[in-house]
Amino acid sequence: MRTDTISAKELVGIYQAGSHHMVGDGFPVRNMIPGAGVEEQLSPFLMLDYMGPEEFPPTTHRLGVGEHPHRGFETVTIMYHGKVAHRDSTGSGGVIGPGDVQWMTAASGVVHEELHEKEFAEKGGLLEGVQLWVNLPKAFKMTTPRYQTLLNSEIPTVELEGGAGRLRVIAGEFRGVAGPAKTFSPVHLYDLRLAAGHRMELDLPEGFNSSLFVLHGQVVVNGAQTVDEVRIGLLGQRGERVVLEAKQDATILVLSGQPIAEPIARYGPFVMNTRDEIIQAVQDYQAGKMGHLS
Ligand code: MN
Repeated sequence: MRTDTISAKELVGIYQAGSHHMVGDGFPVRNMIPGAGVEEQLSPFLMLDYMGPEEFPPTTHRLGVGEHPHRGFETVTIMYHGKVAHRDSTGSGGVIGPGDVQWMTAASGVVHEELHEKEFAEKGGLLEGVQLWVNLPKAFKMTTPRYQTLLNSEIPTVELEGGAGRLRVIAGEFRGVAGPAKTFSPVHLYDLRLAAGHRMELDLPEGFNSSLFVLHGQVVVNGAQTVDEVRIGLLGQRGERVVLEAKQDATILVLSGQPIAEPIARYGPFVMNTRDEIIQAVQDYQAGKMGHLS
């Protein structure tokens, strides 16, 4: 059982977006991870792009990013507004909309496309989402690709006491409630909505790398520092409990994972352990070994 002696987890840094750029012609993103020089404090999380929020006018053009490969990690797409359609070289695919998550394990390699869903594009509307890259342990980098569509209705919601808000468990567990995502290393991923003027105690494992991505609102951490909108608050590995208080209604993505203590070699859409493995990935892609879209 939890006791009052549980130790505090400190906020050790606040980071703003590095670059603003377009991914393909459909995803205006702000890159939140990597933060300069803090890669080791983020493992197993490799990258976080915040897509939008942006209002798109109606179009019949297929906006998005066309055929491209990935190997050695997982891409996790979390939608808040709008709809995205995916298709990949294993024959998997689908549409994700508000509240849905797509957890794609690229592993040995897939080729895929990520586009605005057809009817959404034709009607136009608000697009907002996150794409997170989660590293794979060396032992799983060359396993078979896997695709998990986690619909909003399948992601359990924990109501917080006193009307403080709610927390959706995408992966891992929170207060005994387990999320649906299957992961290759221990990861907790939560979609947290905290109401203005309310506070909560959030317990995360000591030794995990944990951070808070504040999409909307303003959050006071441990009664001291404020993390503003579109900032990542990096938490220390030590301690377990962080106290969050929303100054305004807040939307927070909570990331917590056991660090993967293995070397990283990365080049574009490939994340492996050595330079030789990167060269092999490029050759395999060029030779068509990651497949093509039919
Ligand atoms: Mn991709």
